[in-house]
Amino acid sequence: MLAFEQRIEHALNERNQHGLTRQLSAVQTTGSAQLVHAGRKYDHFSSNDYLGLASDRSLVEAWQQGLARFGAGSGASPLVSGFSPAHQRLEALLCEWLGYSRAILFSSGFSANQALLFTLLEEGDLLLQDKLNHASLIEAGLLSSAQLRRFQHNNLEHLNQLLTAHSSQHALVVTEGVFSMDGDRAPLSSIQQQIGQRAWLMVDDAHGIGVLGGQGRGSCAQAGIQPDILVVTFGKALGLSGAAILCSEALGDYLTQFARHYVYSTAMPPAQAYALCHSIQMVQQQEWRREKLQELSAIYDQKLADVAGFVATATPIKPLILGTNQRAITIADRLRDCGIWVGAIRPPTVPTNQARLRITLTANHTNQQVTKLADALMMAMEGQL
Ligand SMILES: *Cc1c(COP(=O)(O)O)cnc(C)c1O
Repeated sequence: MLAFEQRIEHALNERNQHGLTRQLSAVQTTGSAQLVHAGRKYDHFSSNDYLGLASDRSLVEAWQQGLARFGAGSGASPLVSGFSPAHQRLEALLCEWLGYSRAILFSSGFSANQALLFTLLEEGDLLLQDKLNHASLIEAGLLSSAQLRRFQHNNLEHLNQLLTAHSSQHALVVTEGVFSMDGDRAPLSSIQQQIGQRAWLMVDDAHGIGVLGGQGRGSCAQAGIQPDILVVTFGKALGLSGAAILCSEALGDYLTQFARHYVYSTAMPPAQAYALCHSIQMVQQQEWRREKLQELSAIYDQKLADVAGFVATATPIKPLILGTNQRAITIADRLRDCGIWVGAIRPPTVPTNQARLRITLTANHTNQQVTKLADALMMAMEGQL
């Protein structure tokens, strides 16, 4: 067993040798889908702020009003005294919007996923997860008491095989609505049909909520299903942060009693809950933001459809699969030279040899920004920049 110092040095060296070292950059985003880094402005194509709400003035003002009314912090965990009328209103809004009896709030999607899997699952249970599920789900599954099996991505037959082979166990099936690194959607209605009464279905809709479905209700509404458990996060299209688990009355009570991430963690600031109510109202009412995304998406698809590595998606997540880590970094660097900021995504976030650019659109982009991105990408791919 290596000493801590050696372990740390070894891990950092190894990551570096594989071209996998991540860089932390301090960037300041602006309201026009741009960011400023080291004094230079870039068009910003790497945030999850799909609807452009994170910098919205009225949302900033809502948070300020919330601060004036409720103070800075919640002061305690929810069951002690951290739960306020602002939290209560947010829960009610979520239930009404998404059609559930209960909404349980968390400070992050990561903790909501952990809380659910750790609290619900017991030894002997079966947990079936899509192979491409988010790290928070896979990790929580590995650490949970259940037996974790992963089914091939969006593969109903494999899911069915596993359910059949383990039919004596209580089973929970977990998928994302929209996959974060590929931008594709799960076949939710077929999954629900395939499962039937054999398992509970949980959908993590971090990337679908706000973006898809009528009034931005997300992937499940778009697919016409209502899973037993729906996780929505507030750090993406809703422009803030935090998360909620939507569920039945009974599961809501159970989580409130037993979910350790809920019981033993400070409630989100009430001002944040207040701002989230405003965000949800904007998401519901401002259809133009989703329409703008469609328009930008069409421009992007039309310009890049013939480029190697292009993947058509019905979401604002546009992966461009480049293969090696070095290629992804080189092309991201070339774009950066042209004033365009995109993320190069490498293993272990994506499988080996599937390094990619993860390009994301937001309702704040202009058509010109997307056209410029597409032109610069084509030039970079041809090695002309
Ligand atoms: C981002 C994300 C999370 C984590 O949510 P946070 O609120 O950022 O912690 C969970 N699941 C999926 C699918 C995500 O994309």
